[in-house]
Amino acid sequence: MTSTNKKSIVWLGVYGHPDDETSASAGTMVKLSDEGHQVFVITATGGELGTLGTDGTKIRREDLASVRESELRANMKAYGANPPFMLRYVDQELEKEDPEVLAIKILDIMHMVKPNVVSTFGPSGISNHPDHIAIHISTLIAYEKYTNPTSENAPLLIYPSIPEDIAKMYNLQLSPVEKNMDLIIDINETIGYKIEGLKNYKSQEDAQEFAAHLSEREGSHFESFAVSDSSPNDWESHPVVKYLRSL
Ligand SMILES: [Zn+2]
Repeated sequence: MTSTNKKSIVWLGVYGHPDDETSASAGTMVKLSDEGHQVFVITATGGELGTLGTDGTKIRREDLASVRESELRANMKAYGANPPFMLRYVDQELEKEDPEVLAIKILDIMHMVKPNVVSTFGPSGISNHPDHIAIHISTLIAYEKYTNPTSENAPLLIYPSIPEDIAKMYNLQLSPVEKNMDLIIDINETIGYKIEGLKNYKSQEDAQEFAAHLSEREGSHFESFAVSDSSPNDWESHPVVKYLRSL
């Protein structure tokens, strides 16, 4: 840890499939772990319905979840993060679960790791994927159960966000909050980890496409997040906001 008097931050990402965490926040997670902070991720499903390999490899459908889990585990290690918490739901079946039951599983992990910041999908799940929306709903329930609104130590709840013009370019139907650029993290130093992490999801075509897009992209690299309406009202003065803005 470079600044010894700073309290250690605990980052908890809560996502639907192996690779969501990397697309949303790999650069930020590496910056945090480099500074000695704790990084955790909850992954709800095995991504069983993803593509079956790229570049000539052919994975059997029944093997895909374990392949994607090992890709996720290798990436978390490379990022200096803790091994992932796997909730072992099946891809596209998350919305069939009672949101309260899913929330309790997330809440248990919140009690275990005691996050200062929770990052999950916003209301549209970026892509409107039903698993992403289900994880948003249940993480919000878990966060509200976990958080005492009067407590000074309430964690921050954030969603990956996309600027309005880019959302339009890719025809993403985002909710208004997911266009808010409340926290913009400069990831120029850690973009290599993000690109390698995406490439390491060798089973997944869209991860390869995103890696190629980031490699070719000119200009500076950043990850952006919106602060949830459920976060404390005075979030601007939340110590994690100040710290993330200084990263
Ligand atoms: Zn996903």
